[in-house]
Amino acid sequence: MLGVLGDEWTLLIAQQALLGATRYGDFTTRLPISHAVLTRRLSAMTDDGLLARLAYQDKPTRYAYQTTSRGRSLWPVLTSIWEWERRWVPEQAHRLPTMHHVACDADFAPLITCRECAEPVTEKDLTVRWGPSGSWPRSMPVESTRRRSPSAKPSGQPGLFPETMSILGNRWSFAVLVTAFVGTTRFNDFADQLGAPPGSLADRLQILTASGVLSSVGGRYVLTEKGRAVFPVLITALQWAQRWFTAPDGAAVLLRHTLCGHAFDAVLTCDQCAGPLRGAEVQSIPQPTLEDTASAVPQ
Ligand SMILES: [Zn+2]
Ligand SMILES: [Zn+2]
Repeated sequence: MLGVLGDEWTLLIAQQALLGATRYGDFTTRLPISHAVLTRRLSAMTDDGLLARLAYQDKPTRYAYQTTSRGRSLWPVLTSIWEWERRWVPEQAHRLPTMHHVACDADFAPLITCRECAEPVTEKDLTVRWGPSGSWPRSMPVESTRRRSPSAKPSGQPGLFPETMSILGNRWSFAVLVTAFVGTTRFNDFADQLGAPPGSLADRLQILTASGVLSSVGGRYVLTEKGRAVFPVLITALQWAQRWFTAPDGAAVLLRHTLCGHAFDAVLTCDQCAGPLRGAEVQSIPQPTLEDTASAVPQ
């Protein structure tokens, strides 16, 4: 899942595809992306089943890329990233337009609710345990991640959502955050649970603290308000992964809603009309302002 969602270009291409881009030229017009990078991502996203490639012209053959149901079902993740960046990353607040719900004609914020009982849900209302196919060794990075300063943008990435990418783009960061959500606070407990090399772990804790997602208090690392607000991104990403990449022996993570006692299935609703959101009714799903970055890319 992180292999797909941890790549910012993949998220931006998926977003533009959801907003109606299908042809190669649509993507190059909308994104400050080089031909080599776009060609590689379109091919990887087709292999991953996010896009379907259809020939629309012969001699020369030209292809259109349409979102599959797997690709379309990424919209709750994109909407959650959008909301978090807008609310918690100061320089994004004025840059990202508000999201508009077509059904009620209001600007809205998405809320995570329980499909079973329809109540709004936070991380405090869930119990989490490993399912049949779940364990850190199976979920953890196989390759190590190079040290990186919190502000450095990974080479070749657009850097439009740097804070989200510092979480999703690094497997240790994601794992540390999930572990923090289930209540881990001490360095040694993170190390024991994750089996992380101390250097990598110290590095990720420092980066997450510097970006205000964790705060370090008396030897403990605790989620800040900004950190707890990442919950919708984690939950929608997890549900997307479990829906589309289920292991033969079952789910990796089992969630239960303590209020109603049912297995938890997240539904995004509109905070204005309380109706369930549908991808097609959300306008301005992540649409970066590209003027400032487009000019920097050779045509
Ligand atoms: Zn419930
Ligand atoms: Zn609404």
